[in-house]
Amino acid sequence: MQQIVIRRPDDWHLHLRDGAMLQGVLPETTRHFARAIIMPNLVPPVVTARDAAAYRDRILAALPEGAAFEPLMTLYLTEGTDPADVAAAAGSGLVKAVKLYPAGATTNSHSGVRDLGAVMPVLEKMAEIGLPLCTHGEVTDPQVDIFDREAVFIDTVLAPLRRRLPELRVVMEHITTAEGAAYAAEAGPNLGATITTHHLIINRNHILVGGIKPHYYCLPVAKREHHRLALRRAATSGLPCYFLGTDSAPHVDALKEHACGCAGCFTATNTLPLLAHVFEEEGALDRLEGFASLHGPAFYRLPANDTTLRLVKRDEAHRFPDKIFTEAGPVTVFDPGFPVHWHVEA
Ligand SMILES: [Zn+2]
Repeated sequence: MQQIVIRRPDDWHLHLRDGAMLQGVLPETTRHFARAIIMPNLVPPVVTARDAAAYRDRILAALPEGAAFEPLMTLYLTEGTDPADVAAAAGSGLVKAVKLYPAGATTNSHSGVRDLGAVMPVLEKMAEIGLPLCTHGEVTDPQVDIFDREAVFIDTVLAPLRRRLPELRVVMEHITTAEGAAYAAEAGPNLGATITTHHLIINRNHILVGGIKPHYYCLPVAKREHHRLALRRAATSGLPCYFLGTDSAPHVDALKEHACGCAGCFTATNTLPLLAHVFEEEGALDRLEGFASLHGPAFYRLPANDTTLRLVKRDEAHRFPDKIFTEAGPVTVFDPGFPVHWHVEA
């Protein structure tokens, strides 16, 4: 029997939604994670400090009995965001980051930013106070192929922004390309990059070969195999710029298995056994703790958790539930497509 003990992990990019869905999926995260950066793309989005406080209270009210979990709140950047409101929300400790969605990039992003110039006063204030900007790093220009949108975002949005505001602390969320991984490695201490569990496991063939697989469709969409391999090298490199953000994103099956299916993979339930599997395959189990539990808090200038979590490899494969049944409807759990022998023990 093989086992490792790591500091309790955090999820630096998580969708919890609201209402019945929040109630249904929250235990899947709190079972293993101590904290999570909570995405603000509700309908309507979490735009002001007041919105964030109310959403935090709804999350805390939905916590399972006895769960020790801290939601780390974010604000959704719009062209109407008030720099003073952001500064006050950060100063009080309520808000840990601001999220940039280019308008139209993903689920519930139509309130996002069309013109970065319009939000420059907010970004300047964030640079001044050290509040991170989390970026959905894809351009939305219809002329740009969906598989190229991350690389084009880096060249045409991220790099110019960081040249203009080098003090701004930025998280490249859910990088999916070799270009994204390479940019993060060279970018210095003001930039971090999260990597999801599923982008370490699937490439675009998983979505498209042998019939379309809607539960593997997410945004940014999985790319070619060489990008997946680059992400594996990055996650297991031990470099502190890379850390876990699952982007676990629940949608009910009826909206995934649909003529215009929603983007998102739901990995909260099985992320840790899957990561142990991946890191073992890469000969890097000793670097799992850094990726899942240490690099994220260091970037966000928070202490690492002082509790631990034990992962044990057993002969029998882990039996994940196929679905989580919420009051909003069933949500399919990400299926890696291979047996996983790692189990989380308390
Ligand atoms: Zn996301």
